[in-house]
Order: sequence, then C-alpha cells, then structure tokens
Amino acid sequence: MTRKLYLAEPHTYSGTAIITAIIPGERPTLCLDQTWFHPQGGGQKADRGRIGASSVLHVSHNADSVDHLVDSVTGLKEGMTVALDIDRSWRMLNASYHTAGHLIACVVEALVPSLHAVSGHQWPGEGRVEFSLGDQTADVPMDEVNSRIAQDIQCDLPVSLHGDPYRDRCIRIGDYPPIACGGTHVRSLGTLASVRVTAVKKKSGQIRVSYEVST
Ligand SMILES: [Zn+2]
Repeated sequence: MTRKLYLAEPHTYSGTAIITAIIPGERPTLCLDQTWFHPQGGGQKADRGRIGASSVLHVSHNADSVDHLVDSVTGLKEGMTVALDIDRSWRMLNASYHTAGHLIACVVEALVPSLHAVSGHQWPGEGRVEFSLGDQTADVPMDEVNSRIAQDIQCDLPVSLHGDPYRDRCIRIGDYPPIACGGTHVRSLGTLASVRVTAVKKKSGQIRVSYEVST
C-alpha cells in the first residue's frame, strides 16, 4: 500500500519515501510507502520528476499501491530512503488543464442546467469535457461560456479542498457546487492566463466541449 500524499498535500513537490518493492526489467518500477506523485487517472496525466538519481517516466495506480516507472533502478534497494522531486512546470500545466476542465463543467451546468458533465480528458492540447444531453435540444452557448470563464479568472476564484482527503475528497471553485475528485488543481483561477472553449460538437446523446488553456 502506498500512502497517497498528493491527495492531502497537493502543493508539496518534494519529500522522502521508503522503497517497498523494486520490479526490474524492461519497465523498471518502484513502489514506495508514500508518494507525492500524482498517478495518471481521472482524465489527468501522470506527474514526472525524479526519485533519487532516477527519472520518473510514468506513474500509475496498482490496486492500493502506486507504481513509479523509472529509467533505472541501478543502485536502489528495498528499504532504502529516497528523495522525491516532482517536475513543477509539468505538474502546473496538468493541474491547469485539469482545473480548467472543472471550470468549464461548472460554467456550462450553471448556464444550461439540463446538461451534466459526465467525463473529462484534460491532457495538455487535448482538453475536452463531455456532457450528457438531458434535453436533446439543449446546446452550449460558446460565447457566453467563454465570457463567464474570463470573468471567473479575472475574479481569481479560489479552488478549495474539502472533506477527508483519503475518503471523500472534493474540490470547489468559488461558490460553484463541490466536485468529488482525486486530481491536482491550481490554488486559484488567477493562475490561469486564459481558458477558451474552441469547439462544441453534438454526438450520440452527448455534447463534447473542447478547450485550450494558456498559463
Ligand atoms: Zn479535479
């Protein structure tokens, strides 16, 4: 089991951990007693960075544990304490895209109550949020959404964390409804230079809203 400290301490970028397992081979992997690395999931890409002298290439969930795929496990042993260092600029880019996905869901649901966000994909350059169509005639007013997003960023709305981080963690943007989430987010919307909806497409009972972020 890995203690997932990124849930409770999402703005901590370095620390130490004990190696609990080493899986050598073509895809050398480290398991740790605790980690600040965000594993890929919930529409958000994995963190990158370093564990000791090794580069972290990918991070994934594995039941109760977190697998850290690294370039090399040479010199590492189980029981060893290692330094963890998250790539901050990569984290900020992903946290920005991820937070922007939430913001779009909040704004669209506020403006068009019959639409409900059902999934998101917040990879840099590929941002999109899918909404279920309660009312088949509903549509997303792109200009109005972009204008409201710009206002919310201008107001620097806070992104606050609520609940027990390991049981019922949720985040809230300003006064919008809370959202259950295990991802990483920016502290407030002012961190984002801009978020812009670039396309709205209706397809088989869903609406896909694509977006871009600049930081
Ligand atoms: Zn989130």
